Order: sequence, then C-alpha cells, then structure tokens
Amino acid sequence: MQYKLTFKDYNEALKQDKILGLKCGSCGNVNVPPCMVCRKCGSSELDIIELKGSGTIQTYTVINVAPENRESEVPYIVVLVELEEGPWIMGNLGGVKPEEVTVAVMGKKVAMEKASVYAGDKYSWGELARPLFTLLN
Ligand SMILES: [Zn+2]
Repeated sequence: MQYKLTFKDYNEALKQDKILGLKCGSCGNVNVPPCMVCRKCGSSELDIIELKGSGTIQTYTVINVAPENRESEVPYIVVLVELEEGPWIMGNLGGVKPEEVTVAVMGKKVAMEKASVYAGDKYSWGELARPLFTLLN
C-alpha cells in the first residue's frame, strides 16, 4: 500500500499556502494531516483535495520558550482550528499580540492568510510550514 499524499508533499503544498487533505470516497471524512487510510472508517479510497483554510479556533496557547531554531519568533500564539471541512489542525495566529490574547479568541472564525515557513529542527528533513491564521470579523 502506498501513501496517496506524503508528509513531504503536504508540507511542500503548505509552503505554497495550500492545505491539502484526503477525502474519503467511502464515508466522506476529510483527513488532515495525511494518512494511509481514513481515520474514521479505515478505507484506503482517498482523494487529494485542497481545503479552504477557514475554520473556528477551538483552543490556543502562547509559546514563550522556543523550540530549536525558532528562538527569534517567541512569543507567538499557536491555535488549534477546526476547519470548515472537519479536520482540526494547528497553526499560528497573527494579528493579535501574544501578550494580549485571551480565551475570547476561542470560537472565533479564522482564515489562513498564508503559510509561515520555518527552519526544521535536527529531526526534520528541512524547512517546515504551518498555517498562519488571522481573525475574520
Ligand atoms: Zn472514511
């Protein structure tokens, strides 16, 4: 069995501001990040789709102690977003000061503005990307 969408391809697409998912042909579930079989029903009938990048903040945290190679970024806000298509993904939240963010952001609508690309750590194969979300009002 082969991966329809590898993490490498997912990451390369994300660097170009595209969130790719795998839509299950059997149950309709949209899987992100990539997987070999549908997380809901186990089917391998998966098709690559591009997601809209909009959703709702479910929770957040503020990073003050940087992981390797991201020392210049702190503090920054990490959000867990439920995308319109269903999957939950992590990203950064821009446009809000990390020292001013409160639980009021939970439940707010966001859209991916672009991907933020950063140097990976010693366990990565190179640059990685994550979505940078901004609040929609
Ligand atoms: Zn399925």
